[in-house]
Amino acid sequence: MEVVRIAVTSPVFGVSKTKLSDCCFVPVRRKKTIVGRKFVFNSTTDFSNRSSFDRKIQAIHLEQVAADKPKSLTGLVKDVDWPSPSDEIPFWKRKFHAHDANTEIPVNIEKDSDLLHVIHVTAEMAPIAKVGGLGDVVTGLARACLLRGHKVDVMLPFYECIQKDNIQELSLMSTYNSYHDGNWIQTNAYSGLVSDIPVIFIEPTNQFFKGEDVYGGSYNELEAYLFFSRACLEWMQVTGTQPDIIHVHEWQTGALPLLYWDMYSYLSLQKPRIVLTIHNMEHYGECRQEQLNKCGLDGSLYATIDKAIDDRTIGHNPERLSLLKGAIVYSNSVVTVSPTYLKETLCSGWLASALLTNHDKYHGILNGIDTVLWNPASDVFLPTNYHAHNTDGKKICKQYLQRGLGLAFEGRVPLVVCISRLVAQKGLHLITHAISHIEKQGGQMIVLGKAPDGRVQRDFEALANLHNKGSTTRILLMYSEELSHMLYAAADMVLVPSIYEPCGLAQMIGMRYGSVPIVRKTGGLADTVFDMDDQSQPEMANGFVFEGIDEGSLSQTLDRAFSYYKDKPIEWEKLVQKVMQIDNSWNKTASKYIDVYNSIRVR
Ligand code: ADP
Repeated sequence: MEVVRIAVTSPVFGVSKTKLSDCCFVPVRRKKTIVGRKFVFNSTTDFSNRSSFDRKIQAIHLEQVAADKPKSLTGLVKDVDWPSPSDEIPFWKRKFHAHDANTEIPVNIEKDSDLLHVIHVTAEMAPIAKVGGLGDVVTGLARACLLRGHKVDVMLPFYECIQKDNIQELSLMSTYNSYHDGNWIQTNAYSGLVSDIPVIFIEPTNQFFKGEDVYGGSYNELEAYLFFSRACLEWMQVTGTQPDIIHVHEWQTGALPLLYWDMYSYLSLQKPRIVLTIHNMEHYGECRQEQLNKCGLDGSLYATIDKAIDDRTIGHNPERLSLLKGAIVYSNSVVTVSPTYLKETLCSGWLASALLTNHDKYHGILNGIDTVLWNPASDVFLPTNYHAHNTDGKKICKQYLQRGLGLAFEGRVPLVVCISRLVAQKGLHLITHAISHIEKQGGQMIVLGKAPDGRVQRDFEALANLHNKGSTTRILLMYSEELSHMLYAAADMVLVPSIYEPCGLAQMIGMRYGSVPIVRKTGGLADTVFDMDDQSQPEMANGFVFEGIDEGSLSQTLDRAFSYYKDKPIEWEKLVQKVMQIDNSWNKTASKYIDVYNSIRVR
């Protein structure tokens, strides 16, 4: 029998030489992963039938994962620059060859025939000015509509903290004056491209939006966003820009619908119709009448139950307004970010009555994820890429993280990550409990989060001091877009134990990167994650779900997930591949937004 020698140019972990000699093909896929080992092949093998071989090699690989004791990847992967905790520059701050997670834009999306012009007015945009999901949603939805052929712009405050070199083609478009508190403030409007999406940056020449972070500068935030809301309309007015839709988000831009219908529609803006997306009902934009006066409206006119008064403050001195409630009343359509959250908001919370009154124009549309920015097959922040049909690179990502953070990397140990703003909504006591429970169960856990509240930050610092010394837990109290990408890729499981969650992106991003979600059944988590042990819909099963807000419910669910991971490695691998193939992209849900836009547009 003739023997053929082939250089392997893609890692095939866990596949032994003997097994490979029964096979016919070694995949040669990607330039980034180079193994350089030689395997012996039998000349009777059929190299032409690549796809059947791919399947075969995958099957062998899955078998081997079960049969082999996992080994270190050292020696297999020669070109990974393994990090260490003692590196002078932490691995997530190394230079990447692009600032954007991905530069590959899909081209094969079917175009819509009836095209719209949409302008998003927003306080956040990923990746340049992102704090949470709002930034992701604006970028993802804007891109999905652009790819369908629509004209889309995003209007964003020109925060001082935005890194200018992350904006392409930045140029000053116009300088104009916009009203604030009895004065006209000179304001610059810049145009630029962020991740290929056209953005108009609004920069007042006063102190607004100065500071190191998107939120929390030493200016009055409410006044700054009132100014921004009006400055966007003023820009449209002075430049004669009349989009079909002005899409506002959250309380920060909640004054815009009021300003539009009670001021600018009497000037020259007539065509636009307004869509409001509520990403989180907890932030309702508390505002006193005299504060609303600062953007040029008469605050006293809005202090009625059918307009913008905060129902809970009626009869108090002073009564308060809510910019979010005003926006619900004044927008042509209101959307929230998942069908389950829509139901929840109609049943509880003080805004329920306003939403019930406006029920006919209220929609629940599940968020998608931006599969361009979140793509393990091309993500520039990962040490190596991978996809659903070959998840070997994921194992490298796991070991890369483990080594870089000083965690143990020998053996097959479940790694759980939790990437979250550290606020009460996210289930802080459950995150804290998971840290100790996972440690006890012999798993590993990494928390990446930032707490806006000093007390919470200090509590987590104390936890970090306690747990970060060993080789199983890392609590990293910071914001890092790059590290978040690496963590989603490295994780076996992503934990989202929220008390309530309007939609939640972490579980969807996690799945895209092959991390199995463990979530509390609430809001959008209930719409996207279905329990592995739920016999009623096995085809939907994609994670582990618990209902209680007590520690016991979480422990049981973590234990179930760990047993599955440890006892059923073949099924686990299949689950990883299954969750990676679930389509949670904006391509799937953007059409629902376009239907809403079309239902209110004026021709
Ligand atoms: P929310 O909008 O309530 O913060 P979501 O799950 O909708 O929650 O979106 C959170 C987004 O913010 C995700 O993209 C998540 O990866 C990201 N994120 C949260 N905390 C951090 C952090 N500390 N560093 C990097 N990214 C983070």
